[in-house]
Amino acid sequence: MVEVRLEGVTKRFEEVLAVDEASFAVGEGEFLALVGPSGCGKTTILRLIAGFERPDSGEILFDGKSVLGLPPEARRVGMVFQNYALFPHMTVAENIAYGLRGRRRTDHRKRVEELLRLVGLEGLEQRSPGELSAGQRQRAALARALAPEPRLLLLDEPLSALDAKLRERLRLEIRRLQRELRVTTIYVTHDQEEALAISDLVAVMSSGRIEQVGSPWEVYNRPGTEFVASFIGRGNLLEGVVTEVSARGIEVRLMPQGPEIVVSAGAGESSCYRAGQAAKLLIRPERIRLDGSLENRLRARLKGVEFLGDSSWAYLDWAGQELRVKLAGATGPAEGEEVELSFASSDCYLIPISPRPPGSAPGHGG
Ligand code: ATP
Repeated sequence: MVEVRLEGVTKRFEEVLAVDEASFAVGEGEFLALVGPSGCGKTTILRLIAGFERPDSGEILFDGKSVLGLPPEARRVGMVFQNYALFPHMTVAENIAYGLRGRRRTDHRKRVEELLRLVGLEGLEQRSPGELSAGQRQRAALARALAPEPRLLLLDEPLSALDAKLRERLRLEIRRLQRELRVTTIYVTHDQEEALAISDLVAVMSSGRIEQVGSPWEVYNRPGTEFVASFIGRGNLLEGVVTEVSARGIEVRLMPQGPEIVVSAGAGESSCYRAGQAAKLLIRPERIRLDGSLENRLRARLKGVEFLGDSSWAYLDWAGQELRVKLAGATGPAEGEEVELSFASSDCYLIPISPRPPGSAPGHGG
């Protein structure tokens, strides 16, 4: 298996800056999910790694060696796309064996059987893709990509055409397979929940740039930018002003009214903040209680409730800002009522000051 590294990779399509100085690394046998909104450059990054596009600048290294001079077939990369891309006139077995071309034919049968077993398609080898369900077709595409034993697997929204239940089942299967084979994997998705669920590492992209690379826990709980905070999970971003920076942490007063909250930020972050500076606090919906039991209290009006069975979403208006609260079970108060809600200072996370000024991101995509 291979370690993949991108260093300052940039790709333009005429006036569109599709990928802007992207840098990240995926270790041997690791699973990285590349997540971001439509048009942010995810597919272009996969195509650059596979060798279907050439970067305008930057480096792509496999195990420390540049692959920019290698054609796609020499990079030993397996790919699975959203739309299966199976050959309709070939059987499942023939499709999988297509991935083995160039090898001794006597080996094909055994390897195809092995792959059918691996992806759970035993007994269906003589069917054509048209005679398979959507999930089975995606399993066949996966088997074909894995057939030549690639050192890197690239998956581009492989589950987005499937219904929600099947998506959840197949993402577990993909993860199990990837762990079993220890194949380095990059998985493109616009579904942030899927990205968190499936990967060792998440790279969050916006407008051609990599905003943050971190573990699922890090990108959810320690988002590096406001974009990451709002794209990953459903967060409440509250505006405030820093009132004091001390050894205790950073004190932030919420705007336009509200409690003074002391945030304990890391040394690196607190040294960036000064009193009087604007700040944004992230509070996850599951960290807010619809009662006054925690240290910071607000009064807000309940605008609406969505009952989901095992939990509910409560939408509240607090001084013109919308707050989302996730509750276990149903809510007590009725819509329109004024309620007290509370949260702990330790559950507030101060968004780090952006290393680049707002508005400097290349404008495109979305
Ligand atoms: P989606 O999730 O919708 O598939 P994506 O994040 O994969 O989007 P890309 O397909 O990488 O995004 O596209 C990034 C940007 O580059 C978009 O603005 C797209 O229109 C543009 N782009 C991609 N390929 C080309 C091309 N061959 N020629 C011109 N523009 C392109």
